[in-house]
Amino acid sequence: MKYLFGLLLLSIVVTANAQDKTASQTVLLLNSYHPQYAWTNQLTNGVIDALLYQVPPENIHVEYMDSRRFLDDGVYSSHIKELLIYKYQQYKPDVIITSDDHAYYFMLENRDSLFPDMPIVFCGVNVFNPNSLVGHKDITGILEGMEVKGNLDLIKQLQPEVRRVILLGDTTGLGLRMVKRAREIQSYWYDQKVIFEIWDDFSMAELYEEVAQLSSDTAILLLAIHKDKLGQYFSFEKELKELARISTVPIYGMWGGLMIGNGSIGGLMNDPYEHGQEAGFLALAVLSGVSPKEISIQPKAKFTPIFDYNQLQKFDIDMSRLPANSQVVNKPVSVYETYKREINSIIIFVGILIVIINFLLVNITRRIQVQKELDALNKDLEDKVIARTQEIKQRNHELEDARKRMEELANTDALTGLGNRRAAQAEVTSYVNRAHREGKVLSVALLDIDHFKRVNDQYGHQTGDDVLFGFAQVVKQAIRPSDRVYRWGGEEFLILLPNTDLEFSSAVCNRITRDLHAHVFETAGIITASIGVSSLLPSDDMDSLVNRADDLLYQAKDNGRDQVMLG
Ligand code: GH3
Ligand code: MG
Ligand code: MG
Repeated sequence: MKYLFGLLLLSIVVTANAQDKTASQTVLLLNSYHPQYAWTNQLTNGVIDALLYQVPPENIHVEYMDSRRFLDDGVYSSHIKELLIYKYQQYKPDVIITSDDHAYYFMLENRDSLFPDMPIVFCGVNVFNPNSLVGHKDITGILEGMEVKGNLDLIKQLQPEVRRVILLGDTTGLGLRMVKRAREIQSYWYDQKVIFEIWDDFSMAELYEEVAQLSSDTAILLLAIHKDKLGQYFSFEKELKELARISTVPIYGMWGGLMIGNGSIGGLMNDPYEHGQEAGFLALAVLSGVSPKEISIQPKAKFTPIFDYNQLQKFDIDMSRLPANSQVVNKPVSVYETYKREINSIIIFVGILIVIINFLLVNITRRIQVQKELDALNKDLEDKVIARTQEIKQRNHELEDARKRMEELANTDALTGLGNRRAAQAEVTSYVNRAHREGKVLSVALLDIDHFKRVNDQYGHQTGDDVLFGFAQVVKQAIRPSDRVYRWGGEEFLILLPNTDLEFSSAVCNRITRDLHAHVFETAGIITASIGVSSLLPSDDMDSLVNRADDLLYQAKDNGRDQVMLG
């Protein structure tokens, strides 16, 4: 937006195809003030930067009339005039740019003797008198103007509590013209709440004293002070700073290049560089052949809201009240503002890392949890397996015991507790085989209780059983530890006599007979038995061996019972 106007004019220049023409042309910039004056300095830079688009640097001449310091000085003015005449006889300009009121009015006054009919582009004129153009041609430019009304409205907006606004001016020629314009505004200013005063006649000492006592419902709007009433020069760099330091209220202003940074709080302000640049573009248009009368005079410079952050803070101005397009200078830039991109990138990166770490943590926690559950399950399973194994071992033991017990039972006679016929057959067979193998002797004896039927018949079956049990005990007592007795069936018993020949077997059997004779059974009394004894022959197996004993047993029966038959 800022350069729109300039670019528009530049396009005119280019369209006019005047490049060759302007290249050899000369421009004189006549400044009202001195080069160290910030406003003039920045404006000059703006003019030169614009001119350099088309005009070679050596063709740009810049003069400074220093009229802030030689204001209203006729002698000085005439010397300047002579100097310019002398100087620019040699370097005749094709267009003259004036900056600020003094140079403008000086040029109008002395145009005929200095540069008759030379086109003039003016800028920076604060107080413009339209009559000044009467009798002149080829003059155009940009009025700087003043922004009194806008700044008064701005003060009311920023500080609603303000009841009194003091406008500071001076009594120099330009100062008076400014004050006059301000008074015109004052004349139609009607605000029930805000009094609007103009101070223009004071010494700096008086001013300092006054501003140090202002109440907080007051604000200052600085027009322009060139000199105080004692003729003391007012600089923005020194006196404004001091004024602002002393002042109990904010000092608003409208000269952007001069006031910001020198103690002013800000205001609707113009920009000298931009202003100069626009004037430069107008001059280029004129150089390219556009007639100044075709370029209408721009009535006012742009005044935009600019503020000094430090002053806003000092006077506790609510920042939210600033106009939307405000520019705030000296605002401390936070580390975040400076490294916004980097910090944001880091924040995003760290954020992503946190998300990943979180994800991993959740994952790890879950894994640990699952591992724990798995371990617990494994432990449980192991415990169960151990318990089961233990149980199975126990069962196996029990089964083994049961099996043994079963086997025992299968091989044991329930009544007497002796091995039964089955056990007898197995063991006799085994002993017979071993005896054959080892060439050893072996005998068996078959015993049958005599007239046992009578016991049953006479005393009952139970007594019979008792006799069978008692008989077994007697036989067991009578045999040697190496001998074995079995219940062969009914009231018959078999004795296995390992490593025993017939003779020794006879002795054992006779001992049984003797012991029986000595034993009195309860109820049944004396019980006898018939015994057949056979010894192993090389041709024998278990059956033949036992059968021979059986035959001998029958012989014993036949021979009258209660005796031992050997064979
Ligand atoms: P012998 O002198 O000729 O051998 O005459 P015995 O009476 O002893 O012989 P017999 O074969 O005539 O009778 C045997 C009896 O033994 C018949 C049977 O009732 C009895 N007996 C067999 N086993 C048992 C048993 O377990 N308990 C009882 N109480 N009697 C039995
Ligand atoms: Mg019998
Ligand atoms: Mg019998």
